[in-house]
Order: sequence, then structure tokens, then C-alpha cells
Amino acid sequence: MKVTVNKDLCIGCGACAAICEDVFELNDEGLSEVIVDKVSEDDEESVKEAIESCPTSAIEEA
Ligand code: SF4
Repeated sequence: MKVTVNKDLCIGCGACAAICEDVFELNDEGLSEVIVDKVSEDDEESVKEAIESCPTSAIEEA
């Protein structure tokens, strides 16, 4: 699976990075960035949890 973060919606709460630090990282602007090209199978469950936990639904499955 692949994911993207919609920067217009992200409020930088950090939940996604806390749930799955392998995939999400807060950048210098304090917004979440996807740091992998493709989500590994091991990370898929936590990425799905991050998608559900994002308060602004900014994480989209691509
Ligand atoms: S959980 Fe959503 S709003 Fe919070 S940092 Fe991640 S993408 Fe942004």
C-alpha cells in the first residue's frame, strides 16, 4: 500500500508519527510527511490505525 498526507488538512498533531514512526515524520513546518515510498507489510496495520486516528482525515491511501 501507499499513503499520502494532505498538507492542507494536516494540523501537525503528531498522532500518525506516534503510531507509526517508520512511515510518518513531522517536518520542519510541523506537518506530517510520508517518509517511505511504499508501506511495508509489517507497517500496514499501524498505518491503518494512523489513518483512523487522524483527527482531520488527512491521511489518504493512494
Ligand atoms: S494524525 Fe493527521 S493531523 Fe495529525 S500529524 Fe498526522 S496527518 Fe497531521
